[in-house]
Amino acid sequence: MGLVVQKYGGSSVADAEGIKRVAKRIVEAKQNGNQVVAVVSAMGDTTDELIDLAEQVSPMPAGRELDMLLTAGERISMALLAMAIKKLGHEAQSFTGSQAGVITDSVHNKARIIDVTPGRIKTSVDEGNIAIVAGFQGVSQDTKDITTLGRGGSDTTAVALAAALDADVCEIYTDVDGVFTADPRVVKKARKIDWISFEDMLELAASGSKVLLHRCVEYARRYNIPIHVRSSFSGLQGTWVSSEPIVKKQAQGEKQVEQALISGVAHDTSEAKVTVVGVPDKPGEAASIFRTIADAEINIDMVVQNVSAASTGLTDISFTLPKTEGRKAIDALEKNKAGIGFDSLRYDDQIGKISLVGAGMKTNPGVTADFFTALSDAGVNIELISTSEIRISVVTRADDVPEAVRAVHSAFGLDSDSDEAVVYGGTGR
Ligand code: ADP
Ligand code: ASP
Ligand code: MG
Repeated sequence: MGLVVQKYGGSSVADAEGIKRVAKRIVEAKQNGNQVVAVVSAMGDTTDELIDLAEQVSPMPAGRELDMLLTAGERISMALLAMAIKKLGHEAQSFTGSQAGVITDSVHNKARIIDVTPGRIKTSVDEGNIAIVAGFQGVSQDTKDITTLGRGGSDTTAVALAAALDADVCEIYTDVDGVFTADPRVVKKARKIDWISFEDMLELAASGSKVLLHRCVEYARRYNIPIHVRSSFSGLQGTWVSSEPIVKKQAQGEKQVEQALISGVAHDTSEAKVTVVGVPDKPGEAASIFRTIADAEINIDMVVQNVSAASTGLTDISFTLPKTEGRKAIDALEKNKAGIGFDSLRYDDQIGKISLVGAGMKTNPGVTADFFTALSDAGVNIELISTSEIRISVVTRADDVPEAVRAVHSAFGLDSDSDEAVVYGGTGR
């Protein structure tokens, strides 16, 4: 008998019908002879709605209380799912993150898992139950307060539990048939990927492909847990994310899946750009700007420093960060303005990022040039550029993103010539 950890995202449990459909799927996995642990997200857009509600009460709600509020979303779905499974004649027990032993640090709204002690889950499944676990939440080791893992964090809960329980597989059920070469909501001709390496998936996720959260992929890579991303609305095979290519069993026999030159195109419109204007061009300036940002516990993404104008000896430094951290960053920099020494700050939240990801980039020198040519042919202006060994990213106007993604996808021959990619549910919010 195997142990499977399954995770169902918000779009899969958006309403009572969705919960009943998911309950059936979980029961099927149990009837196939497995022990089943199902991690569940909040229903539909509940988390967004709870955040909106909190902001109506207070524009900058306290992290501790926001976590208390948001974890309620997953509690609702876990209890309903357990009820639906019992209705089908099977035993199920629901557990909060804390009860499931998800131990985190004490950083509210984006806590990191530091340990998982799933004793109660193990006992529950050993007694024959299906265990349902609320995703996205844990309890701080130090403060004993309830924490959340950051948006999309249920993916991480699932992988962390799969690692701690030594599960045979971690299945992530969502509203598309797997990981595609681009977001199917933007590129109808996106192609489903059969297998993708942890490294390429990590870059796609970090670049905004929210089908998997990057922390979840990081965790899976560290503990070598293969992930199967698939739809909860269809019976199709999805995408395997693992270190070694998974041999795909097909009617015609076995096919070795190969590493693609280019894995896909990711986009992200959740970031903003801060420009620190008029920074003295001398040692220690960048250090004090980014120390200020780090002390405010803000993660940044890209950094660009302009050449200084010789006449003034001043330069500009731009960086990108999640929009949700924008206010905090501006406040922190303003507070330290005298110490750092700059003229002014500019804040721009109408930016978007487009990234091309693929291990083949390392050995194909033309990729960067082709990427920029595709953008220029689409009339898209580039504002910032950053690269890694297997990724090129650019920042553009947010409005240009959909067109730019489609242009790059076509230019690299990623367009599928068969059916359009299906999006089964969700609002894409
Ligand atoms: P869930 O509610 O299941 O967690 P999410 O909305 O977090 O679902 O993630 C699934 C969504 O991710 C899809 O509906 C799709 O719009 C988006 N997405 C972005 N990039 C990709 C990609 N490369 N492949 C598949 N889906 C993607
Ligand atoms: N409900 C949380 C969110 O919407 C966590 C998750 O769905 O993974 O971000
Ligand atoms: Mg998600």
